[in-house]
Amino acid sequence: MTTPYRAGHVAVIGRPNVGKSTLTNALVGAKVSIVSPRPQTTRHRLLGIATFPEGQLVLVDTPGLHRDQGKSTATAMHRWMNRAARGALEGVDVAALVVRAGQWDEADGFAYEALRGAGLPVVLVVNQVDRLKDKSALLPYLAQISEGREFAAVHPISALKRTGLQPLVKSVLSHLPEQDALYGEDEITDKSQRFLAGEMVREQLMRQLGEELPYATTVEIEQFEVDGALLRIGAVIWVERDGQKAIVIGKGGERLREIGAKARIQMERLFGSKVFLQTWVRVREGWSDDEAALRAFGYHD
Ligand code: GDP
Ligand code: MG
Repeated sequence: MTTPYRAGHVAVIGRPNVGKSTLTNALVGAKVSIVSPRPQTTRHRLLGIATFPEGQLVLVDTPGLHRDQGKSTATAMHRWMNRAARGALEGVDVAALVVRAGQWDEADGFAYEALRGAGLPVVLVVNQVDRLKDKSALLPYLAQISEGREFAAVHPISALKRTGLQPLVKSVLSHLPEQDALYGEDEITDKSQRFLAGEMVREQLMRQLGEELPYATTVEIEQFEVDGALLRIGAVIWVERDGQKAIVIGKGGERLREIGAKARIQMERLFGSKVFLQTWVRVREGWSDDEAALRAFGYHD
């Protein structure tokens, strides 16, 4: 008997920084979603398409729901990220709730309740098991968080080391409807190369800039042209103040060169072609709390 082909949408849900984007990339087999050690790296809802012989997972990677801790007002950017996270449940067949091994807090409980309330089977993904010092703590932890909750399955994994992924894929697939693939076998995301190019630059801003600065930046791709075997890409890094511009550029332009160099390597890997990347830094005061600016920079539905 052959197993039927299954395909459907999988919401990847969890607190910031648990590894949702790392998991999405590991399943897709390419970096479609950017990753950094900082929370709120993911700003857009993004589909990662993972095709296997037995079926196709369309993973909905989301910004974690933003709780504006300590601040009385949420900026327009935070409101946008929350909308993107909430919209993630529309048309979804199953949820993968990602937590960090050994951790479970109120927010995870709320997420679980919300997902069950939406009628979704919840597969619990216990990520980052590679970081557990005491492996014997895993079983009691799993027992404790499963108590009184109905998980469709529980999978300890490491998205970074790519362990435990096969059984996870199998169990997620089993909750998808029997149907043909929703996307072509060679498709890996719903986003354009142009969008992804901007994200690769933004990833470096998240990784290379300190403190609050990454959150004051965004990236606009002004040029994206195929020139024979070469891709010509022009990226504008927007900041909110002159002082921030100086920091992004760095002494003698060193920081900006490093950001561009690393982003270019990532683009070449993802696009499979040579990239000529130019970067500029410009100031637009208060862009992150300015609805018109946000729309202009691609934060719109
Ligand atoms: P997201 O905010 O949930 O999308 O989290 P990211 O995928 O951006 O990951 C946040 C950080 O956790 C990054 O520094 C990742 O490299 C790291 N990370 C993700 N998964 C794992 C894992 O399985 N093991 C370890 N050690 N680190 C991980
Ligand atoms: Mg993410």
